[in-house]
Amino acid sequence: MAVTISIEVELGWGVHDLEGSEHLSENGEAERNALGRLLDHCDRVDVPVSFDVVGHLLEDECDGTHDGPHGNGWFEADPGTDAEANPLFYAPAVGHEILGRQTDHELCTHTYSHVICGDASPETVAWELRRAQSQLETLTGSAAHSVVPPRHSPPERATLRGAGIETVRVSRDTSDRGRLARAGELVVGPHPTFEPRLVDGVVETYCTSYPSLTASTLPSGQRPPPPPFRALPVGLRQRLHRRYLSRAVDAAVESDGDCHLWCHLYDLANDAQWPPVREFLTELGARRDRGEVDVVTMASLNERVRSTREVAATDD
Ligand SMILES: [Zn+2]
Ligand SMILES: [Zn+2]
Repeated sequence: MAVTISIEVELGWGVHDLEGSEHLSENGEAERNALGRLLDHCDRVDVPVSFDVVGHLLEDECDGTHDGPHGNGWFEADPGTDAEANPLFYAPAVGHEILGRQTDHELCTHTYSHVICGDASPETVAWELRRAQSQLETLTGSAAHSVVPPRHSPPERATLRGAGIETVRVSRDTSDRGRLARAGELVVGPHPTFEPRLVDGVVETYCTSYPSLTASTLPSGQRPPPPPFRALPVGLRQRLHRRYLSRAVDAAVESDGDCHLWCHLYDLANDAQWPPVREFLTELGARRDRGEVDVVTMASLNERVRSTREVAATDD
């Protein structure tokens, strides 16, 4: 059984096609600090994370125009400047900051410009992945093997295979369980356990449709939580989430299954979300050291699923 953690790093690109960015800090400082303290703690407890980064964020600068086959206006919000002028759209230091750590984190892609894959043409998605991959190759010496599609909107598998992608994160909506059951799942769990599968040549690892590493009851970055939760003391909400996370691992251990927890970097960028996540990462490292559970990136999960399948095929 294994636990995988993935975190979306997108800043301004996460909502460049939408109105409103009140969940973000004004200059991206809160998010950069949150990344620093997360990476420090991961090094302390040796817990690797798959960071799915929007490619454009890693650019030093640009002139605001890009030659992709996107519809008109897709790059309208692109400021065409650099990290100093628009730190929410350029964060070239982030890639090295993640890969320069002693912990074996993974850089995976979240497309080049946070394109909504299910709405875009296959040509556009192919352009996005090609661009993101060649940029990662230049930056790190190797392309990504994993993708997290923006807003869980599914890309065609042939497009992924064509871009050298071997693993994709897929969300499983559990809202059909009814409103009350869903609210209960969000607050106290249990976090559902889904087994990864090799489908159409790509390994699918499943997560919830809502961020699960961070708490739905606490502020999401700079944005307050939904009104019903605000009435509860912050300490209580933190304890509930702490328990939610422990139980997510318990469920994986008990069912000999896998558990994929995720959030956006901005979700973590406040002082209410961090304490339960920090304690959970410590617990996860300790449970891994005791041999209870493995902690793997999406790239390692990919290798596992494929090798298990090969063994199964040999046994047949
Ligand atoms: Zn640009
Ligand atoms: Zn995203």
